[in-house]
Parts: sequence; C-alpha cells; structure tokens
Amino acid sequence: MKMSLRLLADETVPFVEEARGLYDIQPTWKDEADFMEFQKWLDESLPKGGTLNERFENWQKSLEISVDKAKELLPFITDTLRELAHKKFDLPEEESFNVEFVHDQPWMAYNQYLGEYKSQIEINADLPMQIDSLMITIAHEGYPGHHTELAIKDAKLIRQKGWREHFVTLLNSPWGVIAEGIATTALETLLTDQELEDFYREELLPRAKMKQVNVRTMLEINRAEWRIRELWGNAAFLLHDQKKSADEIVSYLKKYALSSEEEARRTIEFISGPLDRTYIFTYTAGYKLLKELFSRADRNKYFARLLSEPVTPNQIRTWISTGSA
Ligand SMILES: [Zn+2]
Repeated sequence: MKMSLRLLADETVPFVEEARGLYDIQPTWKDEADFMEFQKWLDESLPKGGTLNERFENWQKSLEISVDKAKELLPFITDTLRELAHKKFDLPEEESFNVEFVHDQPWMAYNQYLGEYKSQIEINADLPMQIDSLMITIAHEGYPGHHTELAIKDAKLIRQKGWREHFVTLLNSPWGVIAEGIATTALETLLTDQELEDFYREELLPRAKMKQVNVRTMLEINRAEWRIRELWGNAAFLLHDQKKSADEIVSYLKKYALSSEEEARRTIEFISGPLDRTYIFTYTAGYKLLKELFSRADRNKYFARLLSEPVTPNQIRTWISTGSA
C-alpha cells in the first residue's frame, strides 16, 4: 500500500524497488543461456526450412484457429475442465463464467470476478488464437485459475469468515504473484502430462479437425512458455532500467524470444503501462515459487490452500525454507 501511494504521488522509484514494494518479489536479469538451450531444442524439433524465427512462426500458424472455431470448441473445453476442477477443489455448485471475445486490449485474456460466484472472461479477438492457447487460457482464467480462486475465496473468506476486505481485489499487490502462480500452474494441476497428451490426441484435436499436430512438440513448447516470459522481464529491465529504445528491445526479443515484430511491439506496449511494467514479473515469480513448493509438498493439498487462504510470497518462501510444507 505504501509503494502504491508513493507511485501515485509521482515519486521516482527504482524499478526493482517498485517490484519488491508492490509484489514481495525480487526481479533479476535472466541469463539468456537457458533460452539458447531452448532454441537449440526447437531447432532440432521444428519442421525444417527457413530461419528459426520463420520456423517458429510457421509452427504457431499451424496451430491457429478462427474465433468461430474457438467458440465452437469452448463449451467442450470448459465442461471438461469444470468437471475436473469440481472433483479436486471445493468450488461452489452454482459458480459459472461467461466468455466473450473483445477488441482493442493490451492483454491476451482477462478474468473479471462479478460476485455471486460468477465471472466474465474476455479473450482478445485481435490476436491470433491457437488451439493450445485456448485450452491454457480457459485453465488460467477459469478452471482452476483466476475464476476458481476468486469464487472459493468469496465463499470461504467473505461469506464464511466475514472478512469483507476481500471484496476488494488488489491486483498490484503480493496477491498478484499468488494469483498468477495459481493460474500459470492451473492446467498441470488438473491433468498430468500424459493425461493432457491423451486429451489433445483423442478428444480435442479430432474435434478441431487438427489430428496432424505433433502433440509432444506442442506440449514441450507450452512447458517452456515461462522461459519466454522471463525474457519479457528482461525487456522490462532494458526499457525501464537501461533506458534502451523500442527498436533495440524489438531486436532483442526477436533474437532471444523468437518474437515476431508485431509480438515484440505488443510486449513493449504491455510493459510500458505504469501498472503493468512490474506486473510482468508476477507470472514467472509466481510460477517458479509454486513449482518449488509443489516439488516438496502435496500439490493438491497446497493448491487447495492457496485457493482458499490469503497467502503472500514470503509466507510460501518460509514454508519452503523451514520445511513446513
Ligand atoms: Zn492471469
């Protein structure tokens, strides 16, 4: 809260201090060596022909679906994930969400909790949509991601305990790290690698008439997505800390993150927003923190705790370091 007030008062705060003050995390510059290893793997795995950037772009294009097809597949994806989420977690029976495709937004998708266990999920229809990103988005925003967390916290914290301060969702706060950690690990919490692979191969891809897709490669790239997000964090360092020009950052993102020109410009637009410039770190910080927690503790038990208790990143670090998890 203090950091928010300092920023609102137009105080110039060093970038890393802002992230620490708002989110209880310590962002650092990430060595590109990890990404180069991922690029090497991609080079060996993607269909041949052209530069690696072109091949990666072609790969993504091969997974693209129209908005109409996305709308057609949505009920099936949503029902599947809803059933799994209700089995594992204590979701109120009457919960539901509505999905709408919108235009002119800087983000890919957004969940707004409306109260009464209902959410509105908006998906950016201006950006190309891929079959895998549709699945990941519904897990991230809906089951068992943002909508699930907010519906369960509504039931447990507001209605059962009467903690009315939870009517307010403070996005730019340590909660953001927990929320994005939950959302970025949501899909792998519902389905094991093998179950997910089978689901794509036997259910979703045949329905989408995309049986030709190499499911293993697609899932391997999905699992490396957080590495690309770490590069977006580096881009934020380049922009705000090292004061590099947009053109220099575009070249950086093309070279390391294999972004297209358009994607790179969009990333820069996102990290230029005063509220998003440090929010960009919540995704990878949350993801890595929860992955570490789940490697030491019963995943379902702790995921359920995070869905129903107010927890800060520092609390999780303490659980990990004291071995109480
Ligand atoms: Zn999110």
